[in-house]
Amino acid sequence: MRILVTGGAGYIGSHAVRALTRAGHQPVVLDNLVYGHADIVEKTLKVPLVLGQVGDREVLEPLLRGRHPALDGTALEGKPIEAVLHFAAYAYVGESVSDPAKYYRNNLGDTLTLLEALVATERPLPIVFSSTCATYGIPQQVPITEDHPQAPINPYGRSKWMVEQLLTDFAAAYGLPSVIFRYFNAAGADPDGDLGEDHDPETHLIPRVLDTMSGREPYLQIFGDDYPTPDGTCIRDYIHVADLADAHVLGLERLLRLREREETERKPLIYNLGNGTGYSVQQVIETAKAVTGRGLLAHVAKRREGDPPQLVAGATRAHQELGWRPRYPELETIIEHAWAWHQRRHQA
Ligand code: UDP
Repeated sequence: MRILVTGGAGYIGSHAVRALTRAGHQPVVLDNLVYGHADIVEKTLKVPLVLGQVGDREVLEPLLRGRHPALDGTALEGKPIEAVLHFAAYAYVGESVSDPAKYYRNNLGDTLTLLEALVATERPLPIVFSSTCATYGIPQQVPITEDHPQAPINPYGRSKWMVEQLLTDFAAAYGLPSVIFRYFNAAGADPDGDLGEDHDPETHLIPRVLDTMSGREPYLQIFGDDYPTPDGTCIRDYIHVADLADAHVLGLERLLRLREREETERKPLIYNLGNGTGYSVQQVIETAKAVTGRGLLAHVAKRREGDPPQLVAGATRAHQELGWRPRYPELETIIEHAWAWHQRRHQA
């Protein structure tokens, strides 16, 4: 089945493309390549890449109908898209505070255009949407389940939360089938070693720890050690990116099955994706030392604005309803795979 993957040249999107291909689907990537990597799509994943903006209806309309040339000239003629995995978004929290317009235009405005295009087809096309635990804001309790109140505290989180509202309204009014995945901390890399995290700038903890251990950065800043947690550093729920990718295939297939049986609900299916186990910044550093056999220089810096002390997922709904079973729940494995990718990426 031909599936459109927006943002498929990015970190989580590229892993989802691989999972889709392995499950027998035919992904097509739409990416503006602002942060994505064309060579990953064309050379590593070997799937068609269309260069364009999700909010550009002139790209979107023909593409959904199977009439848009890929970058390499491959004709997609005659093969309409049957569903969409929507990853394309900007995801730097700090930048969303200083330049909210960029985030609302891209993450919200462009997504509205995409949803309009999906409901303008003969039968609304199912969509799987990448949302985030940032939509919960500062949690009232952990683990956080899907019914926890949503009160995002920055424009990035709000842009994702607003799209969730769009999906709810589009499901009720137009019968648009959707899955909303709220990711906790995506980490790790494909176990095959040829895909991984490659952000510029890199803000995430695990790649920054590895950058410091390999000498690419002089030291690591620990953003605050006076949080109300056992060692004073923030606790997060790290989930392997390949496990996230698997969940997308399961979510997509559930939507397609429900549609086949004409049982589509007039509301989105919402799932947290995490392991349900939290690790502090200190524990991540200790685990990375054990995995890599390397040390690092770390300084305690002031808290990063907007960081909740603890984010841990309650993800049993995804287990029960989708049959999702994370294959790599151990932090050691997540860091091992990230380290293998890091070494390969920076030697090349
Ligand atoms: N963090 C840190 N130093 C860094 C990067 C991150 O101490 O160089 C902390 C950050 O404050 C947070 C945790 O590590 O508590 C995870 O941060 P990350 O940016 O990876 O993910 P987030 O939870 O912000 O989405």
